[in-house]
Amino acid sequence: MTQVSFDNTEVAFKHKSDAKLKQAKWLFSIFNYKWLVKFGPGLTAFGLKLRLPIKGLVKRTIFEQFCGGETIQECDQAGDVLFKSGVGSILDYSVEGVEDEATFEQNVDEIKRTIYAAQQDLKYPFAVFKCTGIGPLHILEQASNGSLDASGKDVFERIRTRIESIASYANEHHVRLLIDAEETWIQDVIDDIVLDLMRNHNKTEVVIYNTLQMYRTDRLEYLTATIEIAQNENFKLGYKLVRGAYMEKERERAAEMGYESPIQPNKESTDRDFDAALIACFDNRAIVSTCLGTHNEDSARLLTELMEKAGVDRKNHHFWFAQLYGMSDNISFNLAQAGYNVAKYLPYGPIQAVLPYLGRRAQENSSVAGQVGREMSLIVKELSRRKASRNS
Ligand SMILES: Cc1cc2nc3c(=O)[nH]c(=O)nc-3n(C[C@H](O)[C@H](O)[C@H](O)COP(=O)(O)OP(=O)(O)OC[C@H]3O[C@@H](n4cnc5c(N)ncnc54)[C@H](O)[C@@H]3O)c2cc1C
Repeated sequence: MTQVSFDNTEVAFKHKSDAKLKQAKWLFSIFNYKWLVKFGPGLTAFGLKLRLPIKGLVKRTIFEQFCGGETIQECDQAGDVLFKSGVGSILDYSVEGVEDEATFEQNVDEIKRTIYAAQQDLKYPFAVFKCTGIGPLHILEQASNGSLDASGKDVFERIRTRIESIASYANEHHVRLLIDAEETWIQDVIDDIVLDLMRNHNKTEVVIYNTLQMYRTDRLEYLTATIEIAQNENFKLGYKLVRGAYMEKERERAAEMGYESPIQPNKESTDRDFDAALIACFDNRAIVSTCLGTHNEDSARLLTELMEKAGVDRKNHHFWFAQLYGMSDNISFNLAQAGYNVAKYLPYGPIQAVLPYLGRRAQENSSVAGQVGREMSLIVKELSRRKASRNS
């Protein structure tokens, strides 16, 4: 059995010039400055508001590393570069922070434009959205805990209608649609809606994918329960498996409000459930399609091994690997080179509106102990390899 190597930096960075690699190296190195990571996004937003001439600088540095552009059209070039090496893109309209009904409606229209782009162009194998991008978080929270009042019910019904209309649009256009998972206190109601969407749209092919955060202690049970429901009612499931992005926030809220934390006690238990969920999805592949959203090499390797052992074709469209643009290219490009289905989230939107997303990437690359070191050592290795090959 030939294992995919994630160490081949020539494959990982073929799409990047020396200058771009050096820029990435510089960027990852400044993520070590904790004060910059903490205050940078806020200061940048303030500077942009004051119309200081910093937009170009932001766009050429951190924005260019983690985002495809400000519009779908601007993402075309980044998407083409990835697709040349067999890596797809998932257009991710990453605007955050504006919470009014008009903006939510505009976001629905924009998400539909990403679905349309995916129907038109093979380089976009999925579309994606977040429910908090199309409705207020506090209403999703009240709907989850059953405390909606009459006016809240109206707002909630509008959110449900928006979600359903995005899903129908994806179904009509035969585009796979991922729905991101968010905080536990809004997730129950999202799960119920998405399960219904799967009932309606995943009859023969999987169009709708929910997301399971395996840092939650209850997700394996939920997965098993929904597999049983889908078997009994004769529809299919789509799941994006991730570990989960809101660990600190979840733990803090649980401690503050005095309920048991819904998060696993340690990394080992998250890893154990992540593997178990992947194996459960794989074993039930007749009805479950999987998108593995991870930057963890062992997790990616586990799926390649499961597929290899069971003789599942690498291009089988029920299995996808996914990473974020600007991160873990060693995983994405080496998997694609080995013939697997791979796609990267390609965030985009007006610079001011994607600053919270960029702040989280900076934070993640400074706080996940291994991540920045890993990205940096791969870049350094590739720069040295190129230098040595020029000198030989
Ligand atoms: C394509 C893609 C889509 C994504 N979509 C979503 C989404 O919809 N919703 C979402 O929440 N996140 C999403 N994420 C982020 C994801 O949940 C992880 O935060 C991120 O990918 C890091 O996990 P990892 O598997 O890549 O790697 P690793 O570095 O192996 O794992 C880090 C993760 O392990 C968990 N962890 C770390 N320490 C502990 C601890 N002490 N106790 C318990 N658990 C711990 C945390 O979840 C942490 O993020 C997505 C990521 C990708 C690549």
